[in-house]
Amino acid sequence: MNEMNRDILEILITEEQIQEKVSDLGKQISIDYKGKEPIVVGVLVGAVVFFADLLREITIPLSIDFVAISSYGSDTKSSGVVRILKDLDQSVESRHVLIVEDIIDTGLTLNYLVENLRSRSVATLKVCTLLDKPSRRKVPVVVDYNGFTIEDQYVVGYGLDFDQQYRNLPFVGVLRPEVYGGR
Ligand code: 5GP
Repeated sequence: MNEMNRDILEILITEEQIQEKVSDLGKQISIDYKGKEPIVVGVLVGAVVFFADLLREITIPLSIDFVAISSYGSDTKSSGVVRILKDLDQSVESRHVLIVEDIIDTGLTLNYLVENLRSRSVATLKVCTLLDKPSRRKVPVVVDYNGFTIEDQYVVGYGLDFDQQYRNLPFVGVLRPEVYGGR
């Protein structure tokens, strides 16, 4: 057991379960986007691990791009005021855009991103997320592809962090409470 694993209370989704789900999502996306040459947009940083694995399960031509988003501050997070730290490099006008997220919690971040990209005259806009916490939703968002629905728990691993740590765990797990308290 390595140093990071000692901080994990419970493995919620195993590496194997993730691989199987990512493969299924990739197959479905390949069918749905056949002939459409989508732009697959990864939301930095949390989605990078999922994004990289998912891409290789998609068997149709596509291009990729990234966007980085941040909330202005703790008080504005609840108001959904977010800003784009890094915008797309490509124009998405008249293109089929698929946003790839790590987790949808309140939905505020994604809602902002969807509205922002929709205003750029995309042909279609869909959302793929590895994890969804619907019980926490503050604004409605349409999730077109969802890996796993989870309870209201703070999870780490497979790209998801706590204090920038644990992103390199190959599974999704729940942290021990003392890890939160100890920092
Ligand atoms: P939302 O705007 O939907 O509330 O927030 C989504 C973002 O919050 C995610 O992209 C992620 O960065 C962060 N987040 C929400 N829930 C969790 C969680 O359980 N674990 C981690 N590591 N990040 C989370």
